[in-house]
Amino acid sequence: MASNTIKDEAHTPPLLSTRKRRSETWLKSQEKRQKAKRDSDEDYVDKSGAAVEGKRVGPACTCKNKCYGKVGVVNVNSLFKAYWALESRDLQSEYINARVHTEEIPRLKVKGREARKKQGKTYTVVVNNVSIKVCSIAFLNIHAICKQ
Ligand SMILES: [Zn+2]
Repeated sequence: MASNTIKDEAHTPPLLSTRKRRSETWLKSQEKRQKAKRDSDEDYVDKSGAAVEGKRVGPACTCKNKCYGKVGVVNVNSLFKAYWALESRDLQSEYINARVHTEEIPRLKVKGREARKKQGKTYTVVVNNVSIKVCSIAFLNIHAICKQ
């Protein structure tokens, strides 16, 4: 890698404007390369299925339902492991899609206007074949995933 960089620099014509443009492009490509590297690292980690350094169950939610308590700490950990043991991102998103549902929340009718419906999401986790409804924060933290 480093030797390529030096070679690139050496072949750069000593014209200031060209040089500037080249180095900007070079910086961008470096950024891209960095990003690609990060992505591939993540893929690798996903495929290995091992508990990953840095990927941990997030903190419990602070909602009034106390979702972690409802699910149970032991179950929270096994849900986390089950999710990260999935072999591909496709399987992971399938897993998530099966547990996140969009539902229409009816709103109060306003006089002279149609009742508007609001869309909301419900999150469930399945423990021993029982679906347990949790809040979004608990859902994301149980699986250590970022909101999409
Ligand atoms: Zn909660």
